[in-house]
Amino acid sequence: MRQLVVISGKGGTGKTTVTAAFIALAGKAVVADADVEAPNQHLLLQPEVRERRDFIGAKMAVKDAGKCDRCGRCQEHCRFQAIQEMEVDPTRCEGCGVCVAVCPTGALRLEDEVTGTLMTSETEYGPFSHALLEIGAEGSGKLVTEVRRNAESLRGEEPLLIIDGSPGIGCPVIASLSGTDLALIVTEPSVSGLHDLERILKVARHFGVNALVCINKWDLCPELSRKIESFCEDEGVEMVGKIPFDPGVLDVVKQRLPVKDLLKTRAGEALVMIWDAVNKRLFEENTFEQ
Ligand code: SF4
Ligand code: SF4
Repeated sequence: MRQLVVISGKGGTGKTTVTAAFIALAGKAVVADADVEAPNQHLLLQPEVRERRDFIGAKMAVKDAGKCDRCGRCQEHCRFQAIQEMEVDPTRCEGCGVCVAVCPTGALRLEDEVTGTLMTSETEYGPFSHALLEIGAEGSGKLVTEVRRNAESLRGEEPLLIIDGSPGIGCPVIASLSGTDLALIVTEPSVSGLHDLERILKVARHFGVNALVCINKWDLCPELSRKIESFCEDEGVEMVGKIPFDPGVLDVVKQRLPVKDLLKTRAGEALVMIWDAVNKRLFEENTFEQ
């Protein structure tokens, strides 16, 4: 199964909408939403959730007060200051286990902590793997890896896995990107859009993933769009299309219309052309140099 990830160096570029249009165009594909901290692909796909599973993303120190002789060793050795007056502060505990190792009476133990929910769903386009990390919880990269593993296990006849990647360049993005066949970077014509494109392109190259670029809402600033195009030319990265700003796209999202209606908007024509270029790279050309 080929794997395509749609990423952006920052949030708000329209990555999720572009991914949704690709899902409609692909016909049959397994879909994964790797934006586990603020998932929203489900708002567009309106899936039927078939299964929910707890995600154990962390460990937490727990004390049995009856066994504690208040020697203070745990507090002395915890380098996260997560033990105050010999009591564990769950908001600070990193689950490192040092306190458990130094406690002379066996009063401390590590317990699994549920930090998110992993979901398996069905959409009219194919199976869908998605998740929600609890607010402020650690382990987003691990949960993204679980989302992708779950998506791969859902494969039937589908030839493609489409991953709606996490925004930014941190750990969850690396977990969305690594091992994929192709990345489409969605950027926007702004100074920060260009800056973030440079950063995410470096990350993709570092992990050996070939990347293509498209500009969303390019006509909001043609001058910066030209700068992005010339940056891509200098870097030898293929620019596969420019999507015009179109309020009709927002209407589809706000009115919760089927994602295939995205293709009927003014932006739809550009999305089809970009999809054709991406699809060709994925299935008709096995390798390409950058
Ligand atoms: S598990 Fe680590 S971080 Fe948590 S209380 Fe113990 S020593 Fe501190
Ligand atoms: S190290 Fe163990 S016995 Fe000592 S204060 Fe901590 S929990 Fe209590």
